Amino acid sequence: MHQKLRSIEQADVYNKTVLVRVDFNLPIVQGQITDLTRLKKVIPTIKYLISKEAKVVLISHYGSPKGKFSLDMSLAPIVNKISEELGGMHVGFALDVIGKSTRSKVASLKPGEVILLENVRFHIGEEQNDEVFAKEIASLGDIYVNDAFSCSHRIHATIDTLPKLMPSYAGLLLIEEMKELYNYLSQPKRKLMAVTGGSKISAKLALVHSLLKEADYLVVGGAMANTFLKAQGYDVGASLYEEDYIKHASDILNEAKRIGCEVMLPTDVITAKAIDSCEYRVKSVKDVQADEMILDVGPRFLAEVIFALDEVKTVVWNGPLGVFERIPFDLGTTTIARAIASLTFSNKIKSIAGGGDVVSAINHAKLSENFSYISTGGGAFLKWLENKTLPTIEILYEREVV
Ligand code: ADP
Ligand code: MG
Repeated sequence: MHQKLRSIEQADVYNKTVLVRVDFNLPIVQGQITDLTRLKKVIPTIKYLISKEAKVVLISHYGSPKGKFSLDMSLAPIVNKISEELGGMHVGFALDVIGKSTRSKVASLKPGEVILLENVRFHIGEEQNDEVFAKEIASLGDIYVNDAFSCSHRIHATIDTLPKLMPSYAGLLLIEEMKELYNYLSQPKRKLMAVTGGSKISAKLALVHSLLKEADYLVVGGAMANTFLKAQGYDVGASLYEEDYIKHASDILNEAKRIGCEVMLPTDVITAKAIDSCEYRVKSVKDVQADEMILDVGPRFLAEVIFALDEVKTVVWNGPLGVFERIPFDLGTTTIARAIASLTFSNKIKSIAGGGDVVSAINHAKLSENFSYISTGGGAFLKWLENKTLPTIEILYEREVV
C-alpha cells in the first residue's frame, strides 16, 4: 500500500504566498552554469503556481557557504535562467532569505509573480535546522511546497522544520519522482539485481545492508569491491580500499550467504600502475601485483553479470563499476549500462539508476533514455532506497492510507 503525498494541486493557492523549496544547486564551472537539468525539472511546478495566480517565492541553497555570505555562492546568476525558462517573464530577487527588505519585497508580489530568495545556506540556521530561523521564513508566506527531492535527505530548516510550521504540500516534481521510485521498487518484479559500486563502502554500508535483504543478486564493483576482495583474502596491491571496513565487508558476505543473496564480486579486473597510465592489464583478481591498482572490472566478470541478467526482472543501480571518468576504465560501467539499456528497451527488465556519478556515467554513454527511470535525487535517492521512505517526505503524506 502506498501512502499518498499531499499534492500542491490539492491546495487553494490563488493570491496566496507559496514558499517553494527547490534545488538550484546547479553545476557552475568558472561562473558558467553547465547543466540546467535541475532548474528545468522544477519549471512545471512554478508554471502551475503562476497559472493559479499564486505569489511564488523560490527558496534554494547553493554550495556549502557554512552560514556566511560568499559572492561565488550567490543565487543571483540563476535569476535570468529562471526567467528564460518561463518565457522571459520577470523574476525578482531578494538579497537575503529573511529580513525587512525581503519581507517587503515578498509582500509586494502580485498574483502570478515570482521571486527568488538568496542562498538559504548563507544562514547557519538552515543546516542546523534552527526553529527560530524556520519560523522567520514561515512568516513570509501562507503555504509551503517541497519540490526538492534531491535535498530531502537533509534534516535542514527549509526541508524539515518549515513544512511542519505551515500547510505543506509536495510539488509536481517530487510527486513524479516518488511515483516512479515507488512503482518500480516498492515491490520489485523478481529476480531483483542490485548493482553497486563507486568509491567507498563506508558511505554506502547501510544501503548495501538493506539491498542485501531484498536482492537476489548483489553485484559489487568499483573501489568498493576492493574492500570485499581484501575480506576474501586477495591482495589488491595499490588499489583504493578501506582497511577499517574489511570486517564489515566480511560480515556482509556472511549475511548474504545466510539469507541466500548471491554476491557477485569481480573475478577479473583491469589494473594499471597509475590512474593516468595508458598501460593497463586484464587479469584475474588473484594476480594483482603490489604496485598495481584495480581501476575497473574485467571482461569475464562482465560476462558473468550479463549472464545473470537473463533471470532478472528489475535492476537497481548505484555507483560506477570503475574509474569511468578515464578511458579505458569506463568500459565496465559502459558495458553494463549498455546491457541494462538494451534489456530495458526490449521490455525484459525494468531498470532504475540513481546517485551522482552513475547518472553522469549513463549520460556520458548516452543511454539515459533507455533506462526505465533515472533518479536525479543523488544522496536522497540512496537514502530513500535504504528505507523506501524519507522522514521529510512523510511530513507531506496524506493523513489516511489509501
Ligand atoms: P555515486 O555518485 O554514483 O554514488 P560514488 O560517489 O560512490 O558513486 O563513487 C564514484 C567514484 O568512484 C568515481 O569518481 C569513480 O572514479 C570512483 N571509482 C570507481 N571505481 C574505482 C576504483 N576501482 N578505484 C578508484 N576509484 C574508483
Ligand atoms: Mg558521487
